[in-house]
Amino acid sequence: MNVYDTELISGILEESGFKKTSNIENADAIFLNTCSVREKAEETVFNRLNNLKSLKRKNPGLLFGVLGCMAQSMKNELLESKPFVDIILGPDSYRRIPEIIKERSKTNGSIVDTKLSKFEFYDNLFPSRKEGVNAWIPIMRGCDKFCTFCIVPFTRGRERSRTIESIVKESKKSVEQGFVEITLLGQNVNSYRTSEGNFSELLLDVSNIPGVLRVRYTSPHPADINENLLQVMRDKQNICNHIHLPLQAGSSRILKRMNRTYTKKEFLKLVEIIRTYLPNCALSTDIIVGFPGETEEEFKETLEVVEKVGFDSAFMFKYSPRRGTKASEYTDQIEEPVKQNRLERLIELQKKMSLLANQNHVGKIMDVMVEKESKKSEHQWAGRTDGNIWVVFDKTDENVKDIVKVKIDDTQGVTLFGHRIKLD
Ligand code: SAH
Ligand code: SF4
Repeated sequence: MNVYDTELISGILEESGFKKTSNIENADAIFLNTCSVREKAEETVFNRLNNLKSLKRKNPGLLFGVLGCMAQSMKNELLESKPFVDIILGPDSYRRIPEIIKERSKTNGSIVDTKLSKFEFYDNLFPSRKEGVNAWIPIMRGCDKFCTFCIVPFTRGRERSRTIESIVKESKKSVEQGFVEITLLGQNVNSYRTSEGNFSELLLDVSNIPGVLRVRYTSPHPADINENLLQVMRDKQNICNHIHLPLQAGSSRILKRMNRTYTKKEFLKLVEIIRTYLPNCALSTDIIVGFPGETEEEFKETLEVVEKVGFDSAFMFKYSPRRGTKASEYTDQIEEPVKQNRLERLIELQKKMSLLANQNHVGKIMDVMVEKESKKSEHQWAGRTDGNIWVVFDKTDENVKDIVKVKIDDTQGVTLFGHRIKLD
């Protein structure tokens, strides 16, 4: 979401005559787009601000802006501890950046705008996208789920869905600009709903746009996945066979305390249903360890679910208390060494599961979209399968954006290695 928001902000600034510089020393204004989802993300921003401060000594007219979720959730700390920050804007205030830059150049002191809106979709603005394969298209903003660990509903505000018409228009425009893959984005993509239709209908409409070779979406909430969505995914070839299905925890008691609205049993049942509709569907997940009150036995339930499901990949996190959220007030917080130990054990298990899943692909012929040159060699391409797994293979006569058949020969860690197969 932040990659997209940064493209959007660049688009807004370029539209009003500002130009990007590749050399930070030459910049007249520096904006940091920030994340608050975990403490570590916030620390990164504070460190970055400290490192950038010296640039202001050299160029006193330099403007510093902090944008996004940290602006929303930490404005007071920023104003107090980082007085050299001139502009603080929350996620619903980006439209005003050009105007605020002008305003700031006339006054002293920081300008803060962190009003949240029920209506801001940034419709009719065109993001400045780097050339490439994939265009991120947000379909909804905000979140109303209020998982007890999560700061998103507080920093990004109420859930609101864009119209199908404006999403289809932006997707078509991206295709005209040369993008062939569309990723529909939202904190909760599948709770998308407008008077014109729900998420399945939107997905179908986007997949029907000529020139869209692949459609992905992220992140859905398990509670909002229904059979209708799975039918659409099964019937449309260009909708990728991949679902990011955030588990968060394996114990039903912890899931309840997290307000995730599903139990372990329901999650496992959902995986079964997904696999009946889409037998080859790749599954990835998000997991939090050390949520307040999580016992060793309950953590073991997480390991058990991870082993049972066999996720292709996972993002794994230590619980990080977020101010203002319900879980941060729970009195049974878990100590750091316990969280660390659980995280390491989970990562070790998931590594094994990813390797097992990838070893299953060895010998198979897979459709791979050529995305970029491999980092290791200019003679090799890197591309993704529709299950979102990176494959590296030797170049022949294919080009970026081609979907080609690759026979998988080997796997190391999370990457597959293969060679191009030409079928006439
Ligand atoms: N909307 C998505 C997730 C958005 S946040 C969903 O519901 O799945 C991305 C991930 O960050 C979450 O899935 C969760 O695993 C993790 N996360 C969120 N808040 C966290 C916290 N306080 N501590 C640790 N991890 C957290
Ligand atoms: Fe956060 Fe996702 Fe839960 Fe919304 S659904 S509160 S974004 S974890």
